[in-house]
Amino acid sequence: MNLSSPKTAVVALGGNAISPMGETDSLPNQFRHTRESLVAVIHLIKSGYELAITHGNAPQVGNALLRTELTADTAPLLPLYICVADIQGGMGYMIEQCLQNVLKRSGIRKDVVTMITQVLIDENDPEVVNPTKYVGQRYDEDAARRLADRFGWQIRRTSAGDWRRVVPSPLPISIIESGSIKELTRAGKIVVAAGGGGIPVHPNEDGSLEGFDAVVDKDLASAILAHEIGATEFFILTDVDGVALNFGQRNEEWLSELTVNESRRFLEEGHFPPGSMGPKITAAINFLEKGGNSVLITSIRKIREALKGESGTVIRD
Ligand code: ADP
Ligand code: MG
Repeated sequence: MNLSSPKTAVVALGGNAISPMGETDSLPNQFRHTRESLVAVIHLIKSGYELAITHGNAPQVGNALLRTELTADTAPLLPLYICVADIQGGMGYMIEQCLQNVLKRSGIRKDVVTMITQVLIDENDPEVVNPTKYVGQRYDEDAARRLADRFGWQIRRTSAGDWRRVVPSPLPISIIESGSIKELTRAGKIVVAAGGGGIPVHPNEDGSLEGFDAVVDKDLASAILAHEIGATEFFILTDVDGVALNFGQRNEEWLSELTVNESRRFLEEGHFPPGSMGPKITAAINFLEKGGNSVLITSIRKIREALKGESGTVIRD
């Protein structure tokens, strides 16, 4: 039995959708890419979906961290979770305004609101002891060690040979504001939420919430949000048109459909690496196991075709 209301969806916009790799993420560039990615969102709205929009934040948070480090002598250092919160506001503003402008031009009367969103994590998550998520700039070893001493960072050598700060990426447990987000989407508002995977928070002994220096994967957080607001559909928009087996190899094979069981098997076989396609597939499995209808993974360019089944990868139970 599916108790979800019809046609509510979460759409997750990849970081690359707003700040493509290899391009300076100047504000004009970010606004331009945001407007471009919203063409896909408008298409979903015209198809009748009530939407919550989530988005990545990696380049923006990297820059926010850099600013606070460079000005540490003159202005108070900001913790990572505050940078995540600040960027939710800044990117939320940008997405909200771009969307309001295209809606108006398209003659669609719909409100857009941004929700500053916290995500519950467990401070005993294994990632807290053994962090794996790279954030911020790349350094040579000496520079990285100096910064690690100064700011109390954990650092690690990357596979590319440079050094970066690592922070925990604990599993999201629930979205603190999902009740409000659900009411807003039910009322027909478009909600920008869970930016960058949400602001990680954990409960103190007395139950009060407190920010935690970590980052949560945006796809895993989006899947939880989708479940908690009763979405039937989960759209993951990224910079590839779909999901492939043997990605990037000569025997690469693009998939138009996947079941949950196949997804799990291909994940175990290593087709979907951690940090890129892996969390999207895990997020899809989690959402479908909790009763979601389907997950579509595709690019902004291909969303129209993908909704007709002519592109992208659909995952179903
Ligand atoms: P986003 O910013 O949208 O979260 P990611 O970089 O995290 O994007 O994930 C998308 C990337 O996953 C693609 O650009 C692609 O290079 C990579 N990828 C890894 N494995 C696969 C696969 N099996 N099929 C398709 N893409 C894959
Ligand atoms: Mg990603």
